Amino acid sequence: MKFPATYKTRLIVYMVLLMGFLSGILLYSNKILQDALLNEADNHLARVVQLITSHIESKQDELMHYAAMVRENSTLQEYMFVVVRVNSDVEPLKTFYKKSFGWLPVEYNMILTKEGKLLAGKGSKTITKNNNSIIHSSLSTSFAMKCEDGIEIVAYSPISYLDEQIGSIVISDDINNSSLSQLKNTSGSELFIVDNGNIFTSTINNINGMNFQSDGNIFEVNGHRYHIKKITIPRLIDRNIEMWLGIREEILMQNLASYQQTIFGLAITGSILVLAVGLVLIRDFATPLRMMMAMTAEIVSGKIPKMSKTKARNEIEGLANQFADMLQALREKEDEVQQAHKELEKLAITDTLTKLHNRRHLAEIFPKLMAQTRRDKKFINVIIFDLDHFKHINDQYGHPCGDQCLIHFANILRRHSRSNDYLFRTGGEEFLLLGVSDDRTGGVQLAEKIRIATQEIPFIHSGKTIHITVSCGVNCAEPDKQSHVDFEFMLNHADKALYTAKDNGRNRVEMFCECDDDSVTEEPDFFRN
Ligand code: GH3
Ligand code: MG
Ligand code: MG
Repeated sequence: MKFPATYKTRLIVYMVLLMGFLSGILLYSNKILQDALLNEADNHLARVVQLITSHIESKQDELMHYAAMVRENSTLQEYMFVVVRVNSDVEPLKTFYKKSFGWLPVEYNMILTKEGKLLAGKGSKTITKNNNSIIHSSLSTSFAMKCEDGIEIVAYSPISYLDEQIGSIVISDDINNSSLSQLKNTSGSELFIVDNGNIFTSTINNINGMNFQSDGNIFEVNGHRYHIKKITIPRLIDRNIEMWLGIREEILMQNLASYQQTIFGLAITGSILVLAVGLVLIRDFATPLRMMMAMTAEIVSGKIPKMSKTKARNEIEGLANQFADMLQALREKEDEVQQAHKELEKLAITDTLTKLHNRRHLAEIFPKLMAQTRRDKKFINVIIFDLDHFKHINDQYGHPCGDQCLIHFANILRRHSRSNDYLFRTGGEEFLLLGVSDDRTGGVQLAEKIRIATQEIPFIHSGKTIHITVSCGVNCAEPDKQSHVDFEFMLNHADKALYTAKDNGRNRVEMFCECDDDSVTEEPDFFRN
C-alpha cells in the first residue's frame, strides 16, 4: 500500500484511525456499561422479587393472626355453638361478629359451619365457590389461589367449642389490579399474573389475555423489551398460576443514552479540535517547506532567489531562516565567482607586460568596430607599430631593459591615442591601434603623432637615455562603401604598409593604398623627416 504523501493527508488518515480507535473504545465501554446495567437490573429484580415474596408471606402471617384472634374468641365460640347445635337464630351471632371483628383490615372474612354454610361476614366469590375444598381441614392454614382478578391470599382456621369443631373462619385479601399498582409504584417495575401461559392481570394496560412467552429472562410486548423474573408465591395451591416482575429495558438504557450522547459529543468535539489544531500546525510546518522547495527548484534552474528572514518561532522557521542565510552565502559566493570570472576574462584579453589588449581580443573587437563605422559612415583605421632595431636594445642593454622599453612605448601609445581607440600588443615589439576617424587622413595623422612622440620622448633606463623610433603601417578603409573590407584584409594591408616603412628607412609612417596593392604607398609630405 502506498502511504499518502503530504503531511495534511497523513494527518487526516491518522485522525480517521484515531477516531475509529476512539469509537471502538467507546462502543466497547458502552457494551460493558450496558452489560453492567443489565446485570444490575437483574440484581434489582431479584431483590424486588424477594421483597414481594416476603410481603406475601407476611400478608399470610397477618391473616393467620387475625384468624387466630377470631378462632380463640370464646363468646364467638358460644354464639356459634348455640346457632350450630341448638339451632337458634343466627342474627345475634352476626351482630356480635360484626361488632367484634368488623374492624379487621382485610377484604373478606367469613364464619362458616363445618359443612361450609355462611354464618356471618362476607366471603369472596372465589372462596364461596371453592369452600368445599378449603373447609375440611382441622388445622389452621394459609395459602394462595387464583381469584377473579388476581391472586387471593387466604387464611383458614377451624373454630372449636368444648373440643368439638363447630365451624371455621376464612379471611382473605386479593392481589389484584390496585395492589399490583401499589407494588409497581414501590418497586418501579411491572407485574404480570399469568394463568396457563396467558396474561391474566398486569400493570400494563390492554395486554390481558396475551400470551406470556418469555425468551430466557426477556419478555417482549408492545415493541418493548422487559427483563423479567418469576416471583415464587408461598403456598400457592394453583399450579397454573405464575407471577412475574419485569423492568423495561429502555428505562435502564435512558441513563446510558445520555452518557453515550455526552461521550460521543466529547469525542467528536475533541477530534474536530485535534484535527483543527493539527491542520494549523501542518500549515505552519508546510508553508516554509513549500517555500524552500520552490526556492530549491529555482536554484536548480540556475537562479539564486532572495528569501527574507522572519522571526523563528519554531524549528521549521529556524530552518527556513538558515536556508535564507544559505541563499545569501550562495549569492555572495556567486558574486565572487563572477568577479573572478571577469578578472580571468580580462586577463585572457590583456597582455601581461604592457597591460594593453592582446591579439586574441583584436579578433573580438574588430567586427564590432567595423559594424559601428559602417553604421556611422566613418573610416576605420588599423595602424601597426613596430619598434625599429629593437633587437639591438635587447642585445645592448639586456632583455629586462627591452621589456621596460616595450612598457615605455605602450605608455606613449596610451598618452597620444584617443580615448575611443583600442590599443593592442600583437606580438614581440609589434603593436596595433584600432580606431575610427571622420576622414581618410585621420589614421595617418595619429600614427605620425605617435611616431614623433616616440622619437622625442627618450627611454631612460638605469640612468642611460636610449633613443627609440618606430615604423608605422596604416590602413584606412570606409566599410560603408568598401563591402570587401574585413579583418584579414585590413591587417594584411596595414602590414604591407609597415614593410614599406621598414624598407623605406624606418621611423616613418606609410599608408596602404588600394590603387597599387603590392607596393602600396601614399606619402603625404608631412611624413618625411
Ligand atoms: P626591425 O627594425 O627590422 O624591426 O628590427 P628588429 O630588431 O626590431 O626586429 P627583429 O625581428 O629582428 O627583432 C625583434 C626582437 O624583439 C627579437 C626578440 O628577441 C625581441 N623581442 C620579442 N619579444 C620580446 C619581449 O617580450 N621582450 C624583449 N625584451 N624582447 C623581445
Ligand atoms: Mg618586429
Ligand atoms: Mg622591430
